[in-house]
Amino acid sequence: MDDVDGFLQSLEDMTPEKREEEVERFKSQCICPICPTYNECAKGKGELLFCIIGESEKCITDKKDCLCPPCPFARRLSFGARYTTYCIRGSEVEHQE
Ligand code: SF4
Ligand code: SF4
Repeated sequence: MDDVDGFLQSLEDMTPEKREEEVERFKSQCICPICPTYNECAKGKGELLFCIIGESEKCITDKKDCLCPPCPFARRLSFGARYTTYCIRGSEVEHQE
């Protein structure tokens, strides 16, 4: 399990190319596409990893369920329990501010 701040700092420390590569890798682990809240608009825009990137750009406004709590990526960073629905409410860091 990684510390969220340490994790974000490690992303910050990467070159833009490496960071982009890592974000794409994390996106592939995001289980949002199997969540009932996820929709065609978000899929079309390739929106994923809302917990890190932040809320959906006007695609997702209606919550049906949230699969973030059991998401392996969230569990690795020890979040998804206290805050959820990142696609509407914003990233983990935004929640904590
Ligand atoms: S916690 Fe939610 S938004 Fe983040 S990767 Fe998992 S399913 Fe996607
Ligand atoms: S952030 Fe949560 S509610 Fe939104 S699509 Fe992903 S799993 Fe579903």
